[in-house]
Amino acid sequence: MRFHDRLFRLACAAAAAVVLAGGCSSIGAWNDNRVSVVEQVLGKPEAVANVALVTPPGSGYGGRARIAQHGALVVVRVDMTGLQPNRDYGLHVHEHGDCLGATAAGLGGHFNPEGKPHGRPGLDPSHAGDLPNMRADGEGNVIYVHQTNAVSIVGGPRNVIGRSLVVSRDADDYRTQPDGNSGPPIACGFIRRSE
Ligand SMILES: [Zn+2]
Repeated sequence: MRFHDRLFRLACAAAAAVVLAGGCSSIGAWNDNRVSVVEQVLGKPEAVANVALVTPPGSGYGGRARIAQHGALVVVRVDMTGLQPNRDYGLHVHEHGDCLGATAAGLGGHFNPEGKPHGRPGLDPSHAGDLPNMRADGEGNVIYVHQTNAVSIVGGPRNVIGRSLVVSRDADDYRTQPDGNSGPPIACGFIRRSE
């Protein structure tokens, strides 16, 4: 666990240095087909948060996310590469946005403004920050799109701006308290408004 945490901090420092240097590592162009379909149905989002996912160096993981607000509905989109094929990974909004200190403790628990138990996303009870697992395809890639009204990026008690979007090593069983037995973080992104 300690070793993993140290790796994570190194990854974040490296990512910060890249940003400061004016460059940015990329996992390639967005495959925007599914976003376009969503936007054709929902219209242009009123707010967007583009989230760079920081991953441990040497892990081979890469990714980014986009959270778009369409009225009361939020579309969470995650693209990742380099994961283990045909495997499920947990995905949650965590209370704190500090990916630089990305230990399970430093990130706080799942975003839970209503003080509920952990549970299956969309059902009561569950944390507002509980999202369905992401599944990596046969090549270890993820293109994940989920629509929810459990969170917001335009204010209110469920606002997640300033918090973090975290991918965990293991699948969420939607049952075990307090985190669905989903293991340590393997990618973390600070959620901030982009548009
Ligand atoms: Zn939870």
